Amino acid sequence: MLKKFNNFFSNNIGIDLGTANTLVYVSGEGIIINEPSVVAVNQKTGQVVAIGTEAKKMVGRTPAHISAVRPLVDGVISDFEVAEEMIAYFIKRAQKNRKNILSRPRVVIGVPSGVTNVEARAVRDAARNAGAREVHIVEEPMAAAIGMRLPVGEPVGNMVIDIGGGTSDVAIISLGGIVLSKSLKMAGDRLNQDIIHYARDEFKILLGEQTAEDVKIAIGSVIEGGDDVESAVRGRDLITGLPREVILTASDVRQAIAKTTRSLVDSVKEVLEETPPELVSDIMHRGIMLVGGGSYLKGLAEHLSSEVKIPVYVADEPLTAVVRGTGIILDNLDELQDVLIQNEDDLPPQ
Ligand code: ADP
Ligand code: MG
Repeated sequence: MLKKFNNFFSNNIGIDLGTANTLVYVSGEGIIINEPSVVAVNQKTGQVVAIGTEAKKMVGRTPAHISAVRPLVDGVISDFEVAEEMIAYFIKRAQKNRKNILSRPRVVIGVPSGVTNVEARAVRDAARNAGAREVHIVEEPMAAAIGMRLPVGEPVGNMVIDIGGGTSDVAIISLGGIVLSKSLKMAGDRLNQDIIHYARDEFKILLGEQTAEDVKIAIGSVIEGGDDVESAVRGRDLITGLPREVILTASDVRQAIAKTTRSLVDSVKEVLEETPPELVSDIMHRGIMLVGGGSYLKGLAEHLSSEVKIPVYVADEPLTAVVRGTGIILDNLDELQDVLIQNEDDLPPQ
């Protein structure tokens, strides 16, 4: 009863701090923010000009002194100050409509797996500075597993692959903990770059990053077939310097991204090779779960499955699994203590 009362009156906020997108969940309301993790900064004054969707619109379109920064680009916090401003901004926005402005929020934040202590502390401090009363940090693959309602607390092996923008996290989870994980700087952004490089080499045309991403989402695939599918793209001709249009086919895109998808598969195999046999046996039986925007890539699940000889499933709503997980953690903090990253400030001095 007391707990219910407490949940009702306090404003609890769950945040998926992704390299590409930040999502915010508020208890009792659901997911209220889903925006790009981008901050536009005026380099002359050091001031933040825009955050989120508004800032993303500026990417590639800013005057020289304004730069659009992605503070978490490779899954590590590349710019602490900017990251802090972004976290604070989203927390404040999440609280905007609260009636009980007196209570400070309890916050659960999902961060890329393998963050350093310094980074975890920076995230914690940022949330505290933004007014959080309590801050709990969880690694994103764990939050995703909880969001998918996998039995993370039981002694069975679960395997989650979270393919985001900057990083792909491969994690084996059992008994409330991450048994093994690998964070690869090989995800959606890399695929976009692959497409840019391919168009440059094969068609002598320079594509913008957004164009490359649009092509990937429209016709990107990992397995053969659908080669009559094509997409017209515009870029700058590298020889004349003038705008030009070329037609890219599904086969072009497949070739462009082949090397990256192969490395991704190899990394998954490496993690499986290091996984204790009992857990591998569980995973063979239960399958591998894909989350993150990259899991939408056509044919990826099938391809991975045929390579590792284990069933691979794409989660329902793969883009929101992490933030839904932070919401479940918020509402069950007592039972789910183990899944959180320990706050080093709470540990006794060594
Ligand atoms: P993060 O957790 O790192 O913020 P997300 O899980 O939000 O990343 O995923 C973002 C990535 O997913 C981007 O690189 C985006 O291009 C990619 N993505 C989104 N939708 C699709 C799609 N339909 N096909 C392929 N890639 C996609
Ligand atoms: Mg993510």
